[in-house]
Amino acid sequence: MAGAAGADARGGPDAVRPSIDAACRLGPRARASFPQGMPVGPALGVDIGGTKLAAACVGPDGAIRCARRVPTDVGADAESLFGELAALVHAVLDEANIDAAKGSTAGISGPAEAPAPVVCGVGSGGPMLPGGETVSPLNIPAWRGFPLRERMEEVTGLATYIDNDAKALALAEGWRGAAASQRDYMAMVVSTGIGGGIVVDGRLVDGSSGNAGHVGHVTVEPGGRPCRCGARGCLEAEASGSAILEMTGRPAEEATAGVIERTGTLVGRAVAMAAHLLDIRIAVVAGSVALGFGAPFFEAAQAEIDARARLEFARGVRIVPAGLGANGPIVGAAAVGWRGLGTWPPTPAAFCAQRRGDARRSP
Ligand SMILES: [Zn+2]
Repeated sequence: MAGAAGADARGGPDAVRPSIDAACRLGPRARASFPQGMPVGPALGVDIGGTKLAAACVGPDGAIRCARRVPTDVGADAESLFGELAALVHAVLDEANIDAAKGSTAGISGPAEAPAPVVCGVGSGGPMLPGGETVSPLNIPAWRGFPLRERMEEVTGLATYIDNDAKALALAEGWRGAAASQRDYMAMVVSTGIGGGIVVDGRLVDGSSGNAGHVGHVTVEPGGRPCRCGARGCLEAEASGSAILEMTGRPAEEATAGVIERTGTLVGRAVAMAAHLLDIRIAVVAGSVALGFGAPFFEAAQAEIDARARLEFARGVRIVPAGLGANGPIVGAAAVGWRGLGTWPPTPAAFCAQRRGDARRSP
């Protein structure tokens, strides 16, 4: 298949191994856990949302190229919608493979400037089975138990890994965004719904079913509004864009100062709980509602955190806007791909720094 062939010609496993070995001066036990024979090449990132489908080629340096997007046709049936996604992905891969072929004929040796993707990573709304074997995004009714992973592998010819879009964002923000250099943090999306991803000890937390991080369903108002999960007073039922619309009759863009402050307070309450449970230092928040509200939202959230996170270790936890903006979801999707390959973070130095941290904690 063209993608893998292009990567092998330009910088296959043998080209990558020496740089990994040079960057990592660890004992044999740690070295045995390195990705064996895996090129750290570009990833095809695919972001599947209720508003748009997006795809791009993301380099190990975080550079985005060949980016394309189309609106999500939520009224389409399952196969029609997948057909639109497949066309989008084909267009990105064709462009990436043409770039790679140009590099080869130019006689460039060593790591290529624009090699073809070696893996496909997908960020999607949940719920989903572990690994995205099937997905049932709440905001895409046409897909219920849709076998997305297998279908994406057929279309791309690449090994494909799928995860929750908020977990994907957590990877991206910790790599190149507002949580860069942090080992313990939470990433949140406060938008139509509310999602989250948790990184502790430098590792993304999966949980037993892969669904760890569902901060939208912690209780922030006991006895509050019914949530679509079946409980009451969940953060998502009180502070999401859809909740604000139902409560006020107006979209979040038209929210009053009081609604903005209350939303920030409730999000801060959830972050304070997470801080005590997980010993995180920072919460990075993306999503149209939170970023649209801006400073008054973040100030209210920080005040609530400061009031409720009182144990010594939890004091000083910060809540900040996400750093990658509109690029976060696609970079996160690529990160899901690298993580699936076992080459996350995608640069040898960062990979080895993480392994050194793990080695220090091992008994
Ligand atoms: Zn709920």
